[in-house]
Amino acid sequence: MSWLQSFFNIKSTYAQRKAYALGTIIQLRAYGRKSEKAIEEAVTRLNQIDDKMSYFKEDSEISKINKAAGVSPQVVSEETFLLLNTAVKYSELSQGAFDPTIRPLVNLWGIGSGFEDVPTKEEIDTTLKLINYEDIILDKSNNSVLLKTKGQSLDLGGIAKGYATDAVKNIFIRNNIKSGLIDLGGNIYALGGKQDGTPWRVGIQDPYAPRGGYIGVVTVKDKSVVTSGYYEKYYIKSGRTYHHIIDPRTGYPSESNLISATIISDKSLDGDGLSTGLYIMGVTKATKLIEAIPGVDAIFITNAKEVYTTSGIKNIFQLTNTEYKYINNPTSKGAEIIEIKN
Ligand code: ADP
Ligand code: MG
Repeated sequence: MSWLQSFFNIKSTYAQRKAYALGTIIQLRAYGRKSEKAIEEAVTRLNQIDDKMSYFKEDSEISKINKAAGVSPQVVSEETFLLLNTAVKYSELSQGAFDPTIRPLVNLWGIGSGFEDVPTKEEIDTTLKLINYEDIILDKSNNSVLLKTKGQSLDLGGIAKGYATDAVKNIFIRNNIKSGLIDLGGNIYALGGKQDGTPWRVGIQDPYAPRGGYIGVVTVKDKSVVTSGYYEKYYIKSGRTYHHIIDPRTGYPSESNLISATIISDKSLDGDGLSTGLYIMGVTKATKLIEAIPGVDAIFITNAKEVYTTSGIKNIFQLTNTEYKYINNPTSKGAEIIEIKN
């Protein structure tokens, strides 16, 4: 608090916090009389979501379901049940590219575990048999969840941060925060505009540069900006890079032409649910799918350093990095309109 604020006893109007939750660094910024309180509540809520939905926490609801795989349905909280329901919806929408039963493969590859090793083709093929989102049996009558087969396990790492971002946004709004920035490890929500009323400028990470190097900027108000990129987690063995987004059709880290997929949407849940699957689908299929969903846009970066954007984004995206080439995308006309209901 400045001396001026203290002198007049004016309550602080800006608060920020850096913390660790959901396996990532989170940064929250809020402007408003209740900014301190809003951030306090947000951190508590993030930890609560982590406790329920983490794969790594022994007592989480996700661990409970994983331990009982092939044995018995487990009753979970309404919010975990609904998030799983949404995750399955995104699996269907991406034709299985997004698959929350991916965990046995993530474990096999060991990405992010510190015990990283390239598995054999045989190991991969055996493990692949366990991956199938259709084996998540959701019973709405009592909010119970069963994984069909022993050894199957859920991983909400590809969607939970989106859900959590929306939860923080709602807390900010309830606390009358008109301007704020929520960043859960690259899962960003820009609430309102900046203090001076202009839109927030969100940098799109250059996949080949260290963190903080950008290819361009989107200017947004009240929007979620979520990126899936191979650079988040990876290891290099014998000159090859193995990253953390696994293609459930092959069992290997995705080798589509995409190295980054950014989704711009109202709900971060939609952005996160889509980003992982679209990354795997590759630029052509991904563009088609996004063009069919009203109110959702995307920025795709290919391994040829080309940048593609969907039709709703041209006025808010600016390519600033001259190493990349902007390819103007023809709108895929006649695409089926898909309505997102959460
Ligand atoms: P990030 O975690 O880097 O922000 P994502 O939203 O793309 O980006 O999530 C990647 C995480 O999702 C991985 O670390 C892993 O836990 C999980 N995951 C990997 N491949 C898939 C997949 N095909 N479907 C669903 N989740 C996946
Ligand atoms: Mg995701």
